[in-house]
Amino acid sequence: MNDMSQPPKTDAVPVSDFYEITETLSPTELATLKQVRTFMETKVAPVINKYWAEDAFPFELLPAFGELGIGGLGLEGYGCRGGSQQLFGFVMMELARTDPSIATFFGVHDGLAMGSIYLDGSEAQKQTWLPPMARMEKIGCFGLTEPLVGSGTGGGLLTTAKREGDTWILNGQKKWIGNAPWCDVSIIWARDVADNQVKGFIVENKTTPGFSVEKIEHKIALKVVQNGLITLKDCRIAEANRLQSANSFRDTARVLRMTRYAVAWIATGCQMGAFEHALAYAKERKQFGKPIGSFQMVQDLLAKMLANVTACQTMMLRLSQLDDEGKLLDHHASLAKAFCTAKMRETVSWARELFGGNGIVVDYNVARFFADAEGLYSYEGTFQMQNLIVGKVITGLSAFV
Ligand SMILES: Cc1cc2nc3c(=O)[nH]c(=O)nc-3n(C[C@H](O)[C@H](O)[C@H](O)COP(=O)(O)OP(=O)(O)OC[C@H]3O[C@@H](n4cnc5c(N)ncnc54)[C@H](O)[C@@H]3O)c2cc1C
Repeated sequence: MNDMSQPPKTDAVPVSDFYEITETLSPTELATLKQVRTFMETKVAPVINKYWAEDAFPFELLPAFGELGIGGLGLEGYGCRGGSQQLFGFVMMELARTDPSIATFFGVHDGLAMGSIYLDGSEAQKQTWLPPMARMEKIGCFGLTEPLVGSGTGGGLLTTAKREGDTWILNGQKKWIGNAPWCDVSIIWARDVADNQVKGFIVENKTTPGFSVEKIEHKIALKVVQNGLITLKDCRIAEANRLQSANSFRDTARVLRMTRYAVAWIATGCQMGAFEHALAYAKERKQFGKPIGSFQMVQDLLAKMLANVTACQTMMLRLSQLDDEGKLLDHHASLAKAFCTAKMRETVSWARELFGGNGIVVDYNVARFFADAEGLYSYEGTFQMQNLIVGKVITGLSAFV
């Protein structure tokens, strides 16, 4: 594949960090970020368009990804990397700056799956699962959405859990589940038929009778991420594998608060990548005998993209401070997820426009960011759902049906 429009590889602060937000990191955090950047630029960038075009996941990169030692970033103990939420956010942004699918893969494993066990699991469950997941020897997924229940998961899941002694029987389907077609362990959310409350279960994909996954084909976004349709047919799960601190949807929502924060960072990184590719192309592509970057209207596009990127970065920087102070609330994360993904859609479409016809060919990279943005915009709660969460807090009136 043609990589002529790759952004320049440099150890310096990326050109898309216009207000130098990276300077707020400590020297140790900066070293981690640079390690991630080097991995993404040298190992992922050269091959990712090929995988994207083939709807395939780069499994051969997993060992090197694991060696980065970022598993469990932001989580303390249990073999996790730990560190600030600010560093976690910067790493998510950096992953997405090269590829939003890789950031999504990591967000599902580290944020949704490990985060569920970390926030809602018992001590024994954390001891069992978090260390191998932090080393990325075991990979996880998170099954909440269903074929017939998407935005309305808080209002009633159709997947059921029925207790029989020390065993739970799970029945139902989960749709869109990232990593599910190949990973080791699923966090499955189901409605307890006895009390109608949502409960979480740790399900081992490869050894649980009645558990099957079908890969979702023909996606136009985040094609590197393997999404699955999970079917649970009389799956018998031991009480010991029920997340012991997940007693209602509120406990699921605690996980989503953390991961929506991460998706807003991913949306910011996605825009950075698209902007940097566009800027490089504007300097190199010539029309009328001049680089297109010398034309006023092209500079206008670039300046508007950079303004979006910078607005999202500065918003996310402040949000990371709130998170590190323990003050991040659902509506804070929702406002950022809605805003950053909406700005991202503008930014990637301007970047694509700047490439002219080449903007629809994946070899030039920007098409990948353009298409992947659509997945980020919809997953982890749509724009409308996030704004309803914000609207409820600012008016004191719930507009949820
Ligand atoms: C690439 C990708 C990866 C994903 N990964 C996962 C995963 O790993 N795990 C998981 O559990 N889920 C995952 N999802 C599912 C994702 O979270 C849902 O797609 C999302 O929550 C929206 O649900 P839906 O697709 O069923 O849309 P719907 O809920 O059917 O919504 C359709 C439209 O109606 C609007 N709408 C719905 N209700 C209202 C309302 N009350 N007011 C106003 N508008 C409304 C929505 O905003 C949307 O525009 C993933 C999805 C995608 C696309």
